[in-house]
Amino acid sequence: MAYSTLALLAASAAIAAGSASAAPAAAPDTARHQPEIDKIVRNISPQRIEATIRKLVSFQTRHTMSDTESDTVGIGAARRWIKSEFERCNAQNGGRLQVQFDGHIAPVSRRISRPTEIVNVVATLPGTQDASKERIYVVSGHYDSRNTDVMDATGFAPGANDDASGTAAVMEMACVMSRYKFDATLVFMTVAAEEQGLLGAAHWAEQAKQKKLNIAGMFTNDIIGSSRDEHGKVDDKQVRLFAEGLPVEKEASEANRTLIQTGGENDSISRQLARHVKEQGERYVKDFKVNVIQRRDRYLRGGDHMPFLERGYAALRFTEPAEDFNHQHQNVRTENGVLIGDMPEYNDYNYIAKVARVNAAALATLALAPAAPQQVQVRTAQLENDTALVWKANSEPDLAGYRVVWRATDAAVWQGSKFVGNVTEARLPLSKDNYYFGVQAIDKDGNASPATYPVPLR
Ligand SMILES: [Zn+2]
Repeated sequence: MAYSTLALLAASAAIAAGSASAAPAAAPDTARHQPEIDKIVRNISPQRIEATIRKLVSFQTRHTMSDTESDTVGIGAARRWIKSEFERCNAQNGGRLQVQFDGHIAPVSRRISRPTEIVNVVATLPGTQDASKERIYVVSGHYDSRNTDVMDATGFAPGANDDASGTAAVMEMACVMSRYKFDATLVFMTVAAEEQGLLGAAHWAEQAKQKKLNIAGMFTNDIIGSSRDEHGKVDDKQVRLFAEGLPVEKEASEANRTLIQTGGENDSISRQLARHVKEQGERYVKDFKVNVIQRRDRYLRGGDHMPFLERGYAALRFTEPAEDFNHQHQNVRTENGVLIGDMPEYNDYNYIAKVARVNAAALATLALAPAAPQQVQVRTAQLENDTALVWKANSEPDLAGYRVVWRATDAAVWQGSKFVGNVTEARLPLSKDNYYFGVQAIDKDGNASPATYPVPLR
């Protein structure tokens, strides 16, 4: 599939590792299914996701400035229920999830009319490998909802798709995945105040940056509920994955200047993460396409991945293939015989489960795999038609070695690959001028990291 031209390229050239030592050990099988990931994918339940969404809708509104005292109505009741669900599931699954409220007071702003407590519900599954547990992957959905008037804190705002769908997917992933152990740490997060300006996610991302947390990847799931477009056409065979290339910056950072200078606009850390999600998601979820959209988000819209992008982290957004705008951000009503509003009957629960499975497969492979290699460089001191790459050694004890991947400059996904062994240098008889390269770290079970794009070594 993704590596279809590998055979051609590899057959036409005897590709050797640059190391002076003997030929590399046999490559780990990177195409095999990890049995625990197959189990996770199988165990994600559309019925539980539906029950979660209907419960979230039952709180009438989850507007960020809605009631916090009632046990049955408003955002306070909703977040206490979400926390209790994480805890209930955790008690059944060995108790390794750390479940917490993450709250702060947001001052008055454009969409906040009085100082308001914004509370995220965060469930952390700590990594179990010393060399990897500081590496963190975050998956989120926003549990707040809204009406036509974004300041209406009392009207019925079911938010069944936007974004009980993403919230329920995250809760289901936490429940199923916390039965298993991963090398790296997973953070399952349901956030508030997305509709009031991405405030919950921005607070968490800013704390992470200040604590210098190693957030190696973040996905938001926002509007993943429906497979039906506004004309009634159903497409439950794909999900959109929005991935930013170069960030908008007043002044380009050194890293982004290097990307531009070397034609690496399509090799940002978010694009590398998206390639990984596409490969692993499509491997584990049959007959389902991860449609990588090479832009930050849809026109006129934004989401909780943006505060992470703005702080330099790799971050992606999952969204259904074609949104029906009659069923989001609207008061529930009938107009000219058309039912309008974000009600649970417009969701497709089997579809949400498929998107959750793609997320879970990608998170599991990331958290089982080594870190993406660091300080990857391409030698450019000499005019030559080979490509010589060097990188810093990884520290994971289960590392098997490294794989060099490449693609034509007009291709979106990797087309060729070569396992080069446990070395920190490789030479390939392919021109650095004609291909894009990346280096991945591979563990003994065949788990591959996302690729790292090489910067010039002069
Ligand atoms: Zn949303």
